[in-house]
Amino acid sequence: MAQNVGNLWHLAEPMTELKSLDEVLQADVAIVGAGYTGLSCALHLAQQGKDVVVLEARDIGYGASGRNVGLTNAGLWIMPKEAERLLGAERGKRLNQFLIDAPHYVDQLIETHEIDCDYKRNGTLHLAHNRRAVVYLNKRAAQMAEYGADVSLLDRTSAFELTRAEGYFGALRDAGAGTLQPLKYCIGLTRAALAAGVRIYTHSAVLDIERINGNIGRNIAGNTRLKTQNGYVTAGNIILATNAYEEKISYNKGLYTPLYYCQLASEVLSEARREQCLPANMGCWDSGAVMRSFRTDAAGRLLVGTVGNIHTASANGLKNWSQHVVGKTFPHIGELNYQYAWAGRIAKSVNNIPQIQELHKGLYQIVGYSGRGIAPATVTGKLMADYLCENISIDELPLPFNALKNISFNRVRAAIYEIGCQMSHISDFIMR
Ligand SMILES: Cc1cc2nc3c(=O)[nH]c(=O)nc-3n(C[C@H](O)[C@H](O)[C@H](O)COP(=O)(O)OP(=O)(O)OC[C@H]3O[C@@H](n4cnc5c(N)ncnc54)[C@H](O)[C@@H]3O)c2cc1C
Repeated sequence: MAQNVGNLWHLAEPMTELKSLDEVLQADVAIVGAGYTGLSCALHLAQQGKDVVVLEARDIGYGASGRNVGLTNAGLWIMPKEAERLLGAERGKRLNQFLIDAPHYVDQLIETHEIDCDYKRNGTLHLAHNRRAVVYLNKRAAQMAEYGADVSLLDRTSAFELTRAEGYFGALRDAGAGTLQPLKYCIGLTRAALAAGVRIYTHSAVLDIERINGNIGRNIAGNTRLKTQNGYVTAGNIILATNAYEEKISYNKGLYTPLYYCQLASEVLSEARREQCLPANMGCWDSGAVMRSFRTDAAGRLLVGTVGNIHTASANGLKNWSQHVVGKTFPHIGELNYQYAWAGRIAKSVNNIPQIQELHKGLYQIVGYSGRGIAPATVTGKLMADYLCENISIDELPLPFNALKNISFNRVRAAIYEIGCQMSHISDFIMR
């Protein structure tokens, strides 16, 4: 096995033209974090004439936006009816429609801005790991179809034909979803935002947020100041788009439970081996309590993912687990030579619904995509832009502004998730 452990997505051509902030700036809106949320918000604000500055602590896509699986799925993790129950029928319906339409918006953005991100809109498959899961997926398909999603339930044979994956009982196919190279998508959003006039600074962690006077409000420039190592940005509105990667400041810690997801990527497979795993090139994940994902990349590598962190620098535990799981799932591809291994942190909100909070007037944060954020973060960034440009009122927002509370026993929850995932990986050797 090769030992060069790293994030496959970093093969994307890096952005070298961005600099760190070393001056004092004024803007209508300042955004903290250059992931999908921050960049989409910046792009859509600039398109509506706002003067926007984005500050990123590290590099573009350093957080989840440069680490994820790349499945552009519709809706939330939870069922549409569950969202209606949690948010009330009217708001829940609005949110469901907003997020079920979200992959189409990603589609449009990629096309409009000619974003080169290996995007394939050829559907994704949610695989049923047992018979009960088929019933669940059936219900899910019916509920998503009410919102116009192009979903269908595949029986065991049809799911196998598309995946060659053994051991699954069927699948929910979402024809409107697809796969992309997550970091390339993030870089594409950055380039679109720059072209629209946004000023973006990397290696510019916000260290402090200072209120200059009490008179903060929508569209009143110059009231809040962000401090970095070598500069300041003063703006009327601030968006904290740091999700699970917040550092140096502490506005969202405790508002989500951190949950890790790790992935391995194989060497580029020959045509013959490719026919033995995911021949239709559709991204998949399964309904197991400790989820697994399988997809291929543009070069023809197989990517395998699961919930949990990587606990050794060489990712040996994960590699062993994956050889076992892949051997059972795709028995004809033979042992894989894993060349990349990486993990990312998911911000799991208390109800698996993303949260928007107005901390003070003009200071907002968005957190808690709960592992489904490519399309949701893109459209939520746009939503915040529309709100700040007064195209949409607070009552019309599909996501309510919440007064968020710390999740109780959060560290214990995080530890239980992680231990549970690792135990499940061990039991995979014995049971599955
Ligand atoms: C491993 C993994 C797999 C996933 N798979 C999928 C998937 O297949 N499909 C899907 O839809 N979703 C998936 N998700 C979820 C999705 O990736 C996230 O919801 C989404 O990327 C969140 O984007 P964001 O912009 O809100 O946050 P992030 O991309 O995390 O960006 C936050 C940024 O804020 C910066 N920052 C933090 N503190 C500061 C500071 N003080 N100053 C300046 N900058 C700061 C960070 O450096 C970071 O770049 C996955 C997530 C993970 C972790």
